[in-house]
Amino acid sequence: MPAPFRIYNTLSRKVEDFQPLQPGKVGLYVCGMTVYADCHVGHARAMVTFDVFVRYLRYRGWEVNFVRNFTDVDDKIIQRANEAGIDAQAWADRFIENFHRDIDDLGLTRPDLEPRVSTSIDDILAMIGALVERGHAYPADGSVWFSVESFPSYGKLSGQKVDELRSPDADSGKRHPGDFALWKAAKPGEPRWESRWGPGRPGWHIECSAMANTALGETIDIHGGGLDLVFPHHENEIAQSECAHGGHTYVRYWMHNGMLNLGDKKMGKSLGNVVNIGDLLKEWPAECVRLYYLQNHYRSPLPYDENAIPDALAMLARLYEARESAEAMGGEEAAGAVIQSLGADAQKVHELGTTFVSRLHGAMDDDFNTAQALGNAFELARAINRFANHKKAKQRGGPVVKPALEGFAAFAKATGVLALGADAFQDEVKAKRLPAMGLTKAGVEAQIADRHAARQAKDWARADEIRGALEAQGIVVMDHADGSNWRVRLKDSRDE
Ligand SMILES: [Zn+2]
Repeated sequence: MPAPFRIYNTLSRKVEDFQPLQPGKVGLYVCGMTVYADCHVGHARAMVTFDVFVRYLRYRGWEVNFVRNFTDVDDKIIQRANEAGIDAQAWADRFIENFHRDIDDLGLTRPDLEPRVSTSIDDILAMIGALVERGHAYPADGSVWFSVESFPSYGKLSGQKVDELRSPDADSGKRHPGDFALWKAAKPGEPRWESRWGPGRPGWHIECSAMANTALGETIDIHGGGLDLVFPHHENEIAQSECAHGGHTYVRYWMHNGMLNLGDKKMGKSLGNVVNIGDLLKEWPAECVRLYYLQNHYRSPLPYDENAIPDALAMLARLYEARESAEAMGGEEAAGAVIQSLGADAQKVHELGTTFVSRLHGAMDDDFNTAQALGNAFELARAINRFANHKKAKQRGGPVVKPALEGFAAFAKATGVLALGADAFQDEVKAKRLPAMGLTKAGVEAQIADRHAARQAKDWARADEIRGALEAQGIVVMDHADGSNWRVRLKDSRDE
């Protein structure tokens, strides 16, 4: 049996033991992108949150069926496509392609299934039909409305009261101001499909109820999405699915990630401050973007400003550097003998390494506390660094840091952070940062070669001058007995 875990359920407002519908299996439905524009740093929080969730569960032995939809029929898509004079479906398809490129570049696992509204119309119409037959929905003027008064537990997820509702679907023919559209009568210039109520297109909420049902059945284990979807989207999904399925529970655990916090600013296209993931990944390694999202608990707000990603890269580099220095340690003795002769710092790093995996699991099994898991990794990295200062550590420390290295390997599998080799990480940093700094690898290496020649000629003044010039450009030179290597200097992090 896979390892048990606990998860905060938005419906009960409590952390609960997860009980699967089928032993060992998790069915997960996550609301995906409305593909009218590119994925920005706000959207990507949900993408990374659920990637790590799925990754961790699989690492712990769960069989996860991960479904995430594309909303490819929507007001904003139609509006943007019309403005650009392009077919709405072509507009949506372009952003689906971009989205796939972005999440692949970000190193995220693709879902097992990615249903789209445009190819789920039959399922959507079947569910609307069931709702009309059961008296929970009614047609009016070519549209079909869901009757919120027909579902007594409407509001159970969000705490909304039916009396106070006014859905934004303002149109004629509604019986209650809170009633929302399941089917929207066709308007000129909009994509349309035939239905028994006349030509039109689906409302937003019904798509997820229908796609989740087709992919995962009437009752699903976990439904995820951003906190901003609780109302009305998820509240309406519950109403639709439970009414269409004779009251059967729609979702057993509701899981919502918090939003990005931009101080007093909002991120929006109209404000001109949208940071697209594709642009971010041109300048920054994917893993530091991942680490940025994992440093807070997924339910907490996450601050974002221009320092967020540079800080995350500096933090990530510290983990890589500590691991690299542990990897360089040799020695064949029993760990106990080394600890006895090297003392408290050796003992500490061995202790933290030995307990690391169980503490990683403890943090992640308790509602996916990535902040805690990451904190443990930094604590271990600091212990390695303290131990590495010992003059015998490089020669004899290998057996002492072996559990720490095993811990880091488990951490990489569970979270996707520290997944590269030391050289691959440095290469990635150089590939992303040098162009952003206005430098090229060949240019830096030419200066390193000049400096090497100066050192060979014992022209120390010239060698120092070149080192100074490189440092001014943000390049750190490290001399060894057999030559020099270099790295991109990363900014000091607030975690220092
Ligand atoms: Zn949805």
